[in-house]
Amino acid sequence: MPKNFKAVLCQSDLRPAYYDSFHCLITGCRLSCCQGGWHITFGKKDYLTIKKQKGSPELNAGLDHCLRRIREKVDETYRYGEFILQDGCCPLLREGKCGLQLEKGEKVLPFVCRTFPRVETPMSSGYLERSLTPACEGVLAQLWDLPEGVDFLSDPLPPEEQKLYTYDEDASPLLGSFHPIRELCIDALQDRRRSLPERLLLLGMALRPLVEGETDVPAWLARSRALLESGEAAGLLREDLLPMFLVHHANTTLHIRGTDPVFQAKRKDIRAALGLPEGHVLRGSIQPGPYLAARERSGQLFGDRDYFFENLMVSLFFHMRMPDLTTPEALWKSYVNLCDLYAVYRFLAVMSCREGVEDCERELFDLLVLASRALIHDRERQTALRDELFHHDSATLAHMAILVGG
Ligand code: SF4
Repeated sequence: MPKNFKAVLCQSDLRPAYYDSFHCLITGCRLSCCQGGWHITFGKKDYLTIKKQKGSPELNAGLDHCLRRIREKVDETYRYGEFILQDGCCPLLREGKCGLQLEKGEKVLPFVCRTFPRVETPMSSGYLERSLTPACEGVLAQLWDLPEGVDFLSDPLPPEEQKLYTYDEDASPLLGSFHPIRELCIDALQDRRRSLPERLLLLGMALRPLVEGETDVPAWLARSRALLESGEAAGLLREDLLPMFLVHHANTTLHIRGTDPVFQAKRKDIRAALGLPEGHVLRGSIQPGPYLAARERSGQLFGDRDYFFENLMVSLFFHMRMPDLTTPEALWKSYVNLCDLYAVYRFLAVMSCREGVEDCERELFDLLVLASRALIHDRERQTALRDELFHHDSATLAHMAILVGG
């Protein structure tokens, strides 16, 4: 056991206020979470429960072929089994409804199917955090209808729901200050006096001293509040960097591997709309004209929806338990991750208004859901995308300005 082992009992929850009013769109959902080519994985208890179910011949035949035994550990959680998808769909799906739930009830569903899109995690702040993933169309619809921004609520937990969070205080001294540091970050993201790219860059400037080893959190908070009050980041954003932004997306976002066929087809369409050749795109071989035309159209259609992108980034920041304060290195990586995800969303949001798309709002929702599934719910892909930046020495604040500036 580490010398300075610390245990925090989470006696209250913390959640975005819209968490309480979430409801599944059911048959109104175009991109149901039972399809989309992502991995539906579960633990041993869920695997054994599903394996022993018996029902109609149709269900039994589905169950005979739908389960795969796996051995994976992701974020301290063991994954024991998964559904073998057929053409990207859960094999138990029947006319848009879950065959297992229809015959055996909700209790036998694996935890992920019972709870999606909800996630809860105990944190070092002493809160059990509850959040909703933006990989669900119903969640995006909520964020679309929140012009006043995301608010947060907290309630005491009954003893049976309280959870323990443990960590090594010597290895991660900043974890004890997670709550005030996170609060400052969310305030920065919700500061509507600046554009969202400027807010992201100012946040990076504020976090830098912690990355460089500062541990006096009260002094850091005071200085960072002053920086957010009067700091300037607009100068880092330059329109002449747009070609670099486009080359980055041509070689990353449009190349995310192994995602569902709908997303692959849409990305192919985006490549064609941008006039991009197959394969790696070199600097100088990309014409920004089609992107600029889409950006202008997106400004006309979604210009009054800046709050939606703010809500999306605040929700994502909260959902992904950012900032990661386990080590200074992890802190900067989580910030780079945030910028990278914003850049992917921003690029796809603009391209949802490309020439030829009639219902841009619908395309926007589709692209954001599919990108979230491909990246937020696949740590390997997300890490690969981010580490590509570190690999090419492109994870500095100046590079973040290129990423978020398009
Ligand atoms: S993605 Fe969301 S809205 Fe769609 S079926 Fe799943 S939970 Fe319901």
